Amino acid sequence: MTNKSRIIVIGGGAAGMMAAGAAAATGARVLLLEKMQQPGRKLAITGKGRCNLTNICEIREFIEHFGKNGKFLRQTFHHFFNRELVDFFAGNGLETVTERGGRVFPASGKAPEVVKIMRDWLQKSGVTVRFNSPVEELLLKDKKLAGVMVKGEEFPAAAVVLATGGKSYPKTGSTGDGYRLAESCGHTIIALRPALVPLICAENHTRAAQGLTLRNIAVTLFINQKKTSRLFGEILFTADGVSGPTILTLSHQVVSNLESGDQVEIELDLKPALDEKKLDTRLIRDFHKRGKEDMESILRGLLPRELLSACLQMTGIDPQRQGHHVTTQERKRLRSWLKGLRLQISGYRPLDEAIITAGGVSLKEINPKTMASLRLDNLFIAGELLDLQADTGGYNLQAAFSTGHLAGISAASLII
Ligand SMILES: Cc1cc2nc3c(=O)[nH]c(=O)nc-3n(C[C@H](O)[C@H](O)[C@H](O)COP(=O)(O)OP(=O)(O)OC[C@H]3O[C@@H](n4cnc5c(N)ncnc54)[C@H](O)[C@@H]3O)c2cc1C
Repeated sequence: MTNKSRIIVIGGGAAGMMAAGAAAATGARVLLLEKMQQPGRKLAITGKGRCNLTNICEIREFIEHFGKNGKFLRQTFHHFFNRELVDFFAGNGLETVTERGGRVFPASGKAPEVVKIMRDWLQKSGVTVRFNSPVEELLLKDKKLAGVMVKGEEFPAAAVVLATGGKSYPKTGSTGDGYRLAESCGHTIIALRPALVPLICAENHTRAAQGLTLRNIAVTLFINQKKTSRLFGEILFTADGVSGPTILTLSHQVVSNLESGDQVEIELDLKPALDEKKLDTRLIRDFHKRGKEDMESILRGLLPRELLSACLQMTGIDPQRQGHHVTTQERKRLRSWLKGLRLQISGYRPLDEAIITAGGVSLKEINPKTMASLRLDNLFIAGELLDLQADTGGYNLQAAFSTGHLAGISAASLII
């Protein structure tokens, strides 16, 4: 086989490594070009370093996590889905565990192990990998791709898989090159925006709580004062707002609402296990029992230390006020604050800090049965570069692995 009959995969992330290995497993000659010194830099930091590989839920539910574009993935998932992914890793020596919410992780809890398994698999499959090789241009000849250009050098190919990822966390290598490369072949790029991104609060009351994580919190989203969704789980206070799983999940909707100029607020129920009445009884008891202590000290029994100043500021209660002297009005304000801490959302963090880049190559220009470009016969596109984005829970990586696998097999079928 000559260089002209090989497949070039651009990008050594989850999608690109899977595409390269799957193509090589069918007997194709494959060259993987990765711009960084190592592959899988993003993969190695996923899931807070634990890598949430996939989710064991059924296809129908899985697809719902991608919103309206999810149906594009139906055929891809019929080709290679969560069971196949778990079996693939088991076959290559990676044990997995399934946790709450169907989330699948490596049993070791170490994301870099996933990268190592993929690297070893590429080597075993006979894929040639070149690092420090940023693809700068796609070479077109007679309305077909003839190869790619890296640092002024031409690399001929019979088919190309473009899997350069999104534009978030650029230090991992995902700097958005693929959007320009796809555009150069006539593809449409749906406007890029951050998804799964921390939110910025208008007021700075909660700044002192930076770094604090609260579990078992109910978060309600209000758009133009109307309750639109409610989630239960974890929230993290940041330097200028909020993050954590519940917030990241809501962020996709929030970003589009903010873009439309809507008023966005979130309400935190810090005591979801107590209804208003039970909470009131608890407050009366505490104020009575600890009547000689000041509010700052009493509140320490009810709240993490980091939230004390926000609570006192927002309820207007004097920190020196003794338990015995707390008025009914003050108790009411405190109760309302604990059950409904309202934060106005004024913005979101930039694309760099988003877990996912929303938008990307228009799905209307990709064949969902093969991942082939409808613009050029021998171009295949996979992974986050496509206009696909899902909630947290392992859905995004599965989409990268599945589209990568299908793109690799389809590219190989062109030349074998
Ligand atoms: C902090 C964080 C945590 C996450 N955790 C999870 C999780 O637990 N579960 C989950 O499902 N999803 C998670 N995600 C999302 C998931 O990582 C992505 O969806 C997935 O990595 C996308 O895979 P990809 O192969 O398309 O792109 P990437 O993984 O971004 O890989 C793209 C590769 O292409 C290379 N490249 C770019 N341009 C060029 C070029 N011009 N030439 C050559 N190579 C190039 C890059 O260097 C990179 O190696 C997380 C994301 C982040 C940022």
